[in-house]
Amino acid sequence: MPERNWHSIKIFVAHMTIGVLAEPDFDSRVSVLPESISPLIKKGIQVLIETNAGSAAFANDGDYSKSGAVVKPAEEVAASSDIILSINRPQPSLIGRRSSTILIGVYQPLHNPGFIRDWAKQSLTVFSLDMLPRTTRAQSMDVLSSQANIAGYKAVLLAADRYPRYFPMFMTAAGSIPPAKVLVLGAGVAGLQAIATARRLGAVVEVFDTRPAVKEEVKSLGGKFIEVDGAADASKAGGYAVEQSEEFKHKQQSKIAESISKADVVIATAQIPGKKAPVLVTKDMASAMKKGSLIVDLAAATGGNTELTKNNETVDFNGVRIIGDSLLASSMPYDASKMYGKNVLNFLQLIIDKEGKLNLNFEDELVKGACMAHNGEVTNEKLKSL
Ligand code: NAD
Repeated sequence: MPERNWHSIKIFVAHMTIGVLAEPDFDSRVSVLPESISPLIKKGIQVLIETNAGSAAFANDGDYSKSGAVVKPAEEVAASSDIILSINRPQPSLIGRRSSTILIGVYQPLHNPGFIRDWAKQSLTVFSLDMLPRTTRAQSMDVLSSQANIAGYKAVLLAADRYPRYFPMFMTAAGSIPPAKVLVLGAGVAGLQAIATARRLGAVVEVFDTRPAVKEEVKSLGGKFIEVDGAADASKAGGYAVEQSEEFKHKQQSKIAESISKADVVIATAQIPGKKAPVLVTKDMASAMKKGSLIVDLAAATGGNTELTKNNETVDFNGVRIIGDSLLASSMPYDASKMYGKNVLNFLQLIIDKEGKLNLNFEDELVKGACMAHNGEVTNEKLKSL
């Protein structure tokens, strides 16, 4: 009998609980779908899911229960979990119910350093997956890529839906239709997927980016890369873009002005991590666009790539519509959640060992890179300097 007790204590101590919170109303995703629960349960981890957390992503409470999770109200999930998963920042009232909790999400800390400091003061350990280094090893956990891929795809579908003309070329008895001209600004993950999708729909695509490295990728997808000489060296920015000189910005703007006057649709995706998005389209440029043409601006949340963008709004500027939407991944919530959940599971494997016990190894560059706060302190150097 005492031996049985000893074992149960050991199991109890080793037993970890992971909680999944629902996202705010504006986001239809959930950080883990039922299909991603079983690998955690197999490790002896208990998984708690907030009631209705997956309903907007077409995963109901019954599906989670069947996969081995326990459905509970948000307060109980937050109070009983060693690790709390979400995509957006959880409600402050739910956080800090126990110290030493680990939060994992996409918190955009460089844009919101204040609450990471607050969480550090509450002795929470915070991993922000958008801060993972973009290395080959991190690819399977790269939430920015999985979600940007969806955003690039949906941006083109949204544009094709709102555009009053065809995308593909047609020669019919009722007349000829020329192919739509799509201009893609920024050829990162979202931009490359936008190029591929627009090409699949039969559009002709021109592309701008400050990183010459993407030229070949753009060409291989059937886009035309427009070169602008003199971009700032971004070789030390971890694959990301950096801010450009005034001289380069003028040169680039005059080339974009040439392309945009012929474009039917612009998909704007240009971003610089931790900074305001570069303004690539001025009011004058938008004035030169044809009535009925569209700009879909995926950089809206960080200021937008146009002077006219308003986040979460569609602005009508003399018959040219500018759709500001940085949350397009949420408009395809099932696959967005499926891929996000897979990314999170892969990250969890870094910090949980085979027996389901927590193992935080800060010697690992991915664990260190994603960690924003630990042991009561902000740990990320960039964040500290803000
Ligand atoms: P992002 O969202 O930060 O930016 C989108 C694009 O905008 C980038 O291609 C950037 O160069 C471009 N841009 C920025 N300023 C611009 C300007 N003034 N004019 C025109 N274009 C501008 O980028 P992202 O999609 O997150 O990708 C960032 C980098 O990470 C890329 O190099 C990408 O190849 C790399 N990446 C690596 C991995 C990996 O190996 N694990 C995975 C995904 C992405």
